[in-house]
Amino acid sequence: MSLIKKRKCPECSGEMEAKLINLNYKREGVDLEVEVIGIPANVCARCFYRVIPGKVAKYIDSLVDPLFETEISCKEKLLPSPHVGIQFPFLDRNTYAGL
Ligand SMILES: [Zn+2]
Repeated sequence: MSLIKKRKCPECSGEMEAKLINLNYKREGVDLEVEVIGIPANVCARCFYRVIPGKVAKYIDSLVDPLFETEISCKEKLLPSPHVGIQFPFLDRNTYAGL
């Protein structure tokens, strides 16, 4: 099963490489921050444009969305908004990269 297919960069048509990346999720008007570590993605070697596979992006959204919903619907501010970290176990390149 290869999540990341070999493809050209949609921005500059440079070579893309399968890599694990980190992303910071933020929403306008909310102080909550979610840092997600170890996301498999295609990264352009030339312009660093990143493409996360649709299914992976959806899955991460489903993890992150409830945190933002909780924060948005929170009426009584007891504590400052937290910085949440989500870390996926390290994936060997062969398990997500197409040859
Ligand atoms: Zn590029």
